Amino acid sequence: MPAPSSDRNHSHNRYDVAVVGGGNLGLWTAHELARRGAGRRAVLERGWAGWGATSRSAGMVRAQGGTVAAIVLGRITRELYRRLGEEIGLDSGLTSTGYYVLAADAAEAAAFRDLVALRQRHGVAGEWVEPTDGRRRFPALDWSRYAGATFAAADGYVHPPIAARNITLAVHRDAAVALFEMAEVRGIEPAGNSFRLATARGEFRADRVVDAGGPRGCAALGALVGVEIPSHAARHQVVTFGDAPLGEPGHFPMAFAVAAGYYLRPEEHGTMLGMSNPDETADRTAPYQLAYDWAYHERTRPVWEADFPALAGCPISRAWAASIDYTPDHLPIVDEPVPGFFVLAAGGHGMMCGPALGAKMAELMTEGAMAELPDEEVRLSRFRAGAAPGRKDAIALPFPTA
Ligand SMILES: Cc1cc2nc3c(=O)[nH]c(=O)nc-3n(C[C@H](O)[C@H](O)[C@H](O)COP(=O)(O)OP(=O)(O)OC[C@H]3O[C@@H](n4cnc5c(N)ncnc54)[C@H](O)[C@@H]3O)c2cc1C
Repeated sequence: MPAPSSDRNHSHNRYDVAVVGGGNLGLWTAHELARRGAGRRAVLERGWAGWGATSRSAGMVRAQGGTVAAIVLGRITRELYRRLGEEIGLDSGLTSTGYYVLAADAAEAAAFRDLVALRQRHGVAGEWVEPTDGRRRFPALDWSRYAGATFAAADGYVHPPIAARNITLAVHRDAAVALFEMAEVRGIEPAGNSFRLATARGEFRADRVVDAGGPRGCAALGALVGVEIPSHAARHQVVTFGDAPLGEPGHFPMAFAVAAGYYLRPEEHGTMLGMSNPDETADRTAPYQLAYDWAYHERTRPVWEADFPALAGCPISRAWAASIDYTPDHLPIVDEPVPGFFVLAAGGHGMMCGPALGAKMAELMTEGAMAELPDEEVRLSRFRAGAAPGRKDAIALPFPTA
């Protein structure tokens, strides 16, 4: 069998845990498991570590979620990115600029105000900002178009390639983790008290398996062991305006127009803007969705140009599309639906929640429970036929409903 990309002490292919998928979620899971004690772990990645949705993302990181799980995971994630930077002696890649979540009307304003209090109860500082105040604080936005916003100063963004680099480096350095690239998992079979995994790099055995396959793998990996996982892929796209900062380059606040379905942040000396077309449907094919939807871009352009007049007519420096993972309620999945087979999916928020999801998965695997996360927001059972309708995270992009 070929040597793993980081095999120092792992001379055979038997592991305590095999994490399938080397994206933000899988890598953080392996790292957090290693922090919690001895044992041999393998990360099996189809391509390169971090190359999936993780490095194609926009990197918005906020603890201003719409439910307890989203808030808690966002809060822990901000801490973990910083801690990792210190651990490896490199920059964390996280810049806190503050983040406005914009309310389109009075109804949204009332709901968003309540969220400020909920977040405070879960350790996330934030405030409600009236348009009159907003005009002074963030003049690039035409506040007359909004009913106000919530704001959290500690929210910010990561450069996704740097976030991917840092956690890959940490995993690569962990003596208890072997990272295998070009190791697509093609079959998973129970074998006594363990699992046999057929991969592009030969057979592996593991006592426990974590499915962290992301938008292009999580559901398919679950199907290999008969578990239905409602985490699917939809196209999502990002555009950058290279020379159009909306304040101090690199440091002006971020904004999320929830109802309009777009968000923006600083990117180098310009602005990055992400958007999702609610008319997209789940794409169950294998490749990442790379075609940028210019028709949708043009359809929504009048909205963001009216909101941020400085963007009107600005030249585009980059534009790309990729597959984002989504769940019906925009919330993550952290569970063990079959003994020894664990599922981890981000619900589309894997940069703002990924490190915390890895930590919570490690907690579940080592302690059998997860502090602070309500089961009805993270367990798979919430999607079972007949299950009572649960909460949705309202602070999310308008993902497809099909
Ligand atoms: C354009 C865009 C912008 C985004 N912006 C943000 C944002 O601003 N903030 C935010 O929080 N989230 C954002 N997201 C979502 C975020 O990127 C994802 O939620 C997150 O990256 C998911 O991490 P993951 O580890 O689950 O998936 P991935 O990063 O995709 O990793 C999964 C890995 O599993 C591997 N894999 C799959 N199947 C197999 C198999 N059978 N065998 C071996 N390996 C396999 C894949 O190759 C992949 O590397 C964005 C996504 C997109 C596409």
